[in-house]
Amino acid sequence: MYADVILPLPFSDLYTYAIPAALQPEIGIGYRVIVPFGSRKHYTAIVLKIHREPPDNLDIKEIHSLIDSHPVVNEQQLRLWEWISFYYLSPLGDVYKAALPSSMKPRDLLQTYTPRTETFIQINPEKEKEYSDNLLRRAKKQQALLEEIKHFLTANKTERISKKELCGFSNFSASTLSGLLKKKILTDICIETSRLDSDKMPVREPYPLSGHQQDAYIGINNCFLQKSTCLLHGVTSGGKTEIYVHLIAQLLAEGKQVLFLLPEIALTTQLTKRLQAVFGNRLGIYHSRINHNERAEIWQKMLSAQPYEVIVGVRSSLFLPFQRLGLVIVDEEHESSYKQQDPSPRYHARDTAVMLAHFFGAKTVLGSATPSIESYYNALTGKYGLVTLTERFNGVTMPDIQIENTRELRRRKKMKSLLSPVLIELIEQSLKENKQVILFRNRRGYAPIIACSQCEWTPKCKRCDVSLTYHKKVNRLVCHYCNSTYRVPEKCPSCQQMSLEPIGQGTEQLEEEVLRLFPDSKVARMDQDSTRGKDRFGQIIHDFQQRKIQILVGTQMLSKGLDFEHVKVVGIISADSLLNHPDFRAHEHGFQLMTQAAGRAGRKQTAGTVVIQSADPGNPIYSFVTGNNYAGFFHAQLTERKLFHYPPFYRLIRVVCKHKDPGKADKAASHLAELLRKSLHERVLGPNKPVVGRIQLFYIREILLKLENGLSTQQIRDTLKKAEMNLRLDPDFKHAMLYYDVDPL
Ligand SMILES: [Zn+2]
Ligand SMILES: [Zn+2]
Repeated sequence: MYADVILPLPFSDLYTYAIPAALQPEIGIGYRVIVPFGSRKHYTAIVLKIHREPPDNLDIKEIHSLIDSHPVVNEQQLRLWEWISFYYLSPLGDVYKAALPSSMKPRDLLQTYTPRTETFIQINPEKEKEYSDNLLRRAKKQQALLEEIKHFLTANKTERISKKELCGFSNFSASTLSGLLKKKILTDICIETSRLDSDKMPVREPYPLSGHQQDAYIGINNCFLQKSTCLLHGVTSGGKTEIYVHLIAQLLAEGKQVLFLLPEIALTTQLTKRLQAVFGNRLGIYHSRINHNERAEIWQKMLSAQPYEVIVGVRSSLFLPFQRLGLVIVDEEHESSYKQQDPSPRYHARDTAVMLAHFFGAKTVLGSATPSIESYYNALTGKYGLVTLTERFNGVTMPDIQIENTRELRRRKKMKSLLSPVLIELIEQSLKENKQVILFRNRRGYAPIIACSQCEWTPKCKRCDVSLTYHKKVNRLVCHYCNSTYRVPEKCPSCQQMSLEPIGQGTEQLEEEVLRLFPDSKVARMDQDSTRGKDRFGQIIHDFQQRKIQILVGTQMLSKGLDFEHVKVVGIISADSLLNHPDFRAHEHGFQLMTQAAGRAGRKQTAGTVVIQSADPGNPIYSFVTGNNYAGFFHAQLTERKLFHYPPFYRLIRVVCKHKDPGKADKAASHLAELLRKSLHERVLGPNKPVVGRIQLFYIREILLKLENGLSTQQIRDTLKKAEMNLRLDPDFKHAMLYYDVDPL
């Protein structure tokens, strides 16, 4: 018998191994096996197929050993892996690598999983008696601690106490404890504890829904009678989460599992708290900041007889072994972080979630205040159902959105700061009322560019074709593509003058400016630089919620679905930079970001004000934002998309070719484009140099395929594979790197 297995390697999809006779009765699909590969290597592989057809090559190797006594990957998961590999043109090995927690893929025969232990302290009754009256009298501190422990054990009807808990005792000190341990009055033991074991949490009933929420909830259920996917288009602060809570409760009552997807880890804390209050220990959290062992434990629990019933997580939680999935919720479905950029598989978690639900016969809810053009189009054309929630929850009014024309203000010499006079006044007012302010700028660092005022020289990254950003706090120039850092030159290296000046403003400069204008206020900054440490992000959010911060300055990180109660003013600085990308989605992303950012203003009794600073206020996107006019925005976009052959009318595939030699990168890309044109004709565009033409020493060339809807994915796939094979025949292009980005963002 033979097994086709998936190896965590990007070369080919499947490898065939012989199954030793002894393993034949035990092995099955979805089991992990250790297989030899190459001269001396071993890998953990997953069995995809078992059959009796001997492969062509004669020196077929045998499976070394079997790891599991039950499958760790189920049938629906394998179907999902195969679909991702097929649709996103990525090797099955890459999908396997992304799906399974790394500690479940021991490369050598050693298991890397280490159980977690906790130290417990207990009383040694004999010694305790021996010491009780006489000896301990002289050690007052030890006696006091011992009394406190005895009291705790009696009160809790237990025999031991964890060392962690002991630290909170008033008489505790490390030396007192070690004194008692030395005398053997206390003993310590290590006990293995599951990472997932936590105390039983008290839970509450879901809150009753408001009239509007109830309508939406019924609407979604009605929609599911006919469609498997429903788009919930609800205004910011519409109370979508409570609708989700009711849907989840309904599914759990039917004995089903629910997957709740979020675009960012940063959002999980706030949401998890709300869901845990209702679902307690039935809910598990899964994302990349959870360590490898813990992820493996969650995986094993999902395979067990008592799996989590609700999983909250980011895109990788799609890969967990669900047993009876009934519903997938994709919140903030428009967020681009649902798309994996690097490494392969470059899948879109929203679209993959719809597929996952399909394999389980489950339903999907996509939720957003600013749906993606694709999802809204799918809803209008009947592929998805559509439920709209137009009222904000609790009678909260929509914020008042004003546009400040910074070009005009500059002309009249009224722009004396990064902030317009109106915005400054609004901030002052809101500080007086003890309300909070959020200011957005979508560039981190101090200045996007520094340049020589004499000869226009600008510093560039040595590894990438991109100018460096000046970070003042660390006094370095930083490449935002490869994170290389450089010293700031004192003189211009080109003309030797002391003439280097920062141009443009990033979040760091905005923070400095805000501190200058409001020296007595508490200001914090949130961007990739300020949130690098573990849970720094959570800390800033927490401090802002507790009103320890009055003005929060940050990048778009801040706009994503966070709920704050006391924000009165939101300012969007240099809004034009959101719209001026050379990208067909720039307006869509700009509209979404501004609308979402505006949605952070005004809660409960506070009416909010949003100020958008623009030098080009005539851009129609601004009137869609100020008018809260999603439909207008959508139809304007749709007309353009149709005219210029973009999604949702056409599918895009970006073919990326990289080489360390620029000449070879050019030649390989041109040759490949020619090969593709033979069968795809005018659908092939390029090759082009992207805006950043070199990253990390590799020169990049891109070919764009615009494929009308209805073309067969299989045919496209075959065409691409054939062209790639032909390209590789030329020894000149042997070292060219090639990859595909399907439905790029
Ligand atoms: Zn770089
Ligand atoms: Zn110069």
